[in-house]
Amino acid sequence: MVYFIGAGPGAFDLITVRGKNLLEQADVVIYAGSLVNPKLLDYTKPGCEIHNSASMTLEQVIQVMEKGESQSKMTVRLHTGDPSIYGAIREQMDILIEKGIEYSVVPGVSSFCGAAAALKTEYTLPTVSQTVILTRMEGRTPVPEKEEISKLASHQASMALFLSAGMLEELSRRLIKGGYNADTPAAIVYKATWPDERIVRTTIENLSQAAKENEISKTALILVGGFLGNEYERSKLYDPTFTHEFREAEK
Ligand code: SAH
Repeated sequence: MVYFIGAGPGAFDLITVRGKNLLEQADVVIYAGSLVNPKLLDYTKPGCEIHNSASMTLEQVIQVMEKGESQSKMTVRLHTGDPSIYGAIREQMDILIEKGIEYSVVPGVSSFCGAAAALKTEYTLPTVSQTVILTRMEGRTPVPEKEEISKLASHQASMALFLSAGMLEELSRRLIKGGYNADTPAAIVYKATWPDERIVRTTIENLSQAAKENEISKTALILVGGFLGNEYERSKLYDPTFTHEFREAEK
């Protein structure tokens, strides 16, 4: 059996209870070494076979899973954050299906949630934005043309940009071209929830400058939108004058 497990954004105690339990039982662990906190490997039992996937190909990863399976071992594939976001798990799962190897997925805390917690903020503020866009700039991995940043920017929703910290001048240009005001609040969150986490608050037009000043070019999320500002309306849910299924409005 193979378990794809979300390791969480960094802090070793932000893995789920289910993920930790499975990690403790694993005979084989393949972890994404570039972003998974190695302290999570302390949860494994003595003798657990450990592979760092940073230097492996898809074929090599599958080979390790197949070998484990042939010896009735339990394999954990540990992905950073939540495996469904830029985790490249679909291609692994499809090969496992072909090979008749059973697998299961355990979600994790994505870094965009870790970053919001670090900033003590809420993406979905009434009257500001009720939508979160998770996206990236294209790098060597292309992004479909219809999802080009300036098109997504036309919504001026809350946005979390992965894998883009090295392209901030172009990112700002596209965000502004698409509709955000140049002075829209933005944040760069480096290694959210890790011991060396850093938060840089800035504006969309100053993203690149702020990153340079703080020497951040990777392992960071870029957050942009009015949710980082100070203006919003109270929620209806907890408004004393608002009646809903579980509470009558106060007279
Ligand atoms: N599956 C992961 C994302 C993997 S893509 C998740 O759900 O979070 C890798 C990108 O995620 C990095 O380039 C960076 O943009 C972001 N990232 C991952 N961990 C991060 C962290 N702790 N702090 C800030 N950004 C992080």
